[in-house]
Amino acid sequence: MEGKDNHFALAIDIGGSKVAYALIDIQGRLLGSIDKRAVPFYENGVASSEGLIAQMHPYIEQARLRPGTFHGIGMGLCANVDLRTGMVVLAPNLHWRQLPFATLVTEAYQLPVFISMDVRLAALGEAVWGGAKGVKNFAWVTIGTGYGGYFFLDGKLYDGRHAFAGNFGHIPFDEVTGYPCGCGLKGCIETYVSGPAIARTGQAAVDASRSPTLKRLAGKGRVTCESVFQAEAAGDPAAIEIIEQVIRLVAISVAGLVNTLDLDMIVLGGGVTHGSPDFVSRLDRRSRCFLMTEEAKRELVVIKESFPNSTLFGAAANVFMSQGVFKC
Ligand SMILES: [Zn+2]
Repeated sequence: MEGKDNHFALAIDIGGSKVAYALIDIQGRLLGSIDKRAVPFYENGVASSEGLIAQMHPYIEQARLRPGTFHGIGMGLCANVDLRTGMVVLAPNLHWRQLPFATLVTEAYQLPVFISMDVRLAALGEAVWGGAKGVKNFAWVTIGTGYGGYFFLDGKLYDGRHAFAGNFGHIPFDEVTGYPCGCGLKGCIETYVSGPAIARTGQAAVDASRSPTLKRLAGKGRVTCESVFQAEAAGDPAAIEIIEQVIRLVAISVAGLVNTLDLDMIVLGGGVTHGSPDFVSRLDRRSRCFLMTEEAKRELVVIKESFPNSTLFGAAANVFMSQGVFKC
């Protein structure tokens, strides 16, 4: 790594509503701060690829003017992406299907662009520079707007056949009476544990007059995921029950991954895991109740994500690795 201190990449994380930008160097250090912008949408609800490409311009100029070697753009999307072609196969939140986004960005800026599913990059970031560095088998698990993750097995990312692995949030929990899921199925576990699901369950408690604390916190508005955690911290019985159910279901799901794949570690990220200071430790304890082997109960390590945005760090690592600047 000697002599490569001033090598860097522009990392971009395109979520369902926000885009995060950061310059990250080859040591995994953030150069400056993480900037957040809104995803530009057309009136018909489809994300504007032209708007996104225009939004990148000042960040690319900043990178080009910076001393050192600018290696290109690493991009994570909340989408299924064809790694060979950079084609966005399906991005439900952006309403994109078969969009050659990496090619469009390359053509606009004449720069190398490396694109991947956000959860895949988050796992990579944790493996290269985070708490999972040196760990052979782990799952990145994120609970936020959705619930899912990615796997790092036998010392490398597990991509499966299409690099669409890690959609364990879409295993149906109750396909008969469950809620419709964004994926088209019904009663997926995501519809019980995601941020919007927590808000929906909290709202139902208010509507049923079961939670005066949540009603007060919501005021004239709707219940949010944050207010359910606030009500829980204030001792509200309905909110305590809601979060307890979320922890139980995620614990069953995560323990299922460990029982299936014999993992060393679970790395937890996403907004819901920040809902209360001890969320991860509670989930850790509960998950162990559902582990099958004594070895897993004794040896499994459950940690919080190592970065403010692990996808950005993985996006930068992906640039350096794809260009052969370093190996994982
Ligand atoms: Zn689903």
